[in-house]
Amino acid sequence: MSRVKMGDEVVVISGKDRGKVGKVIERIPEEDKVVIQGLNITKRHVRAQKRGQESGIVEREAPLPACKVMLVCPRCGKRTRIGTKITLLEEGEKEKLRTCKKCGEVID
Ligand SMILES: [Zn+2]
Repeated sequence: MSRVKMGDEVVVISGKDRGKVGKVIERIPEEDKVVIQGLNITKRHVRAQKRGQESGIVEREAPLPACKVMLVCPRCGKRTRIGTKITLLEEGEKEKLRTCKKCGEVID
């Protein structure tokens, strides 16, 4: 399961958009896919449903498998895998934070 979140900056590591960077605008956890702003654009022909509506081609982002993207660390700017840091809170609860495997900084 990917640990990329909405708003994360990610880089595509395979496919036609390889090397491109964009922001995650949607997550589809059931399919382990993410939608990245401006990337993996597909064109769809849309027929007018009602009078006055225009038919034409709609461009929109198609979901990409989460395994095809890597997080770009907001701290060091490198593409990285996500680590985990568990912090013990006072009430005996644990807080799981994501960390950058490159620089070790906590991401959120
Ligand atoms: Zn980093």
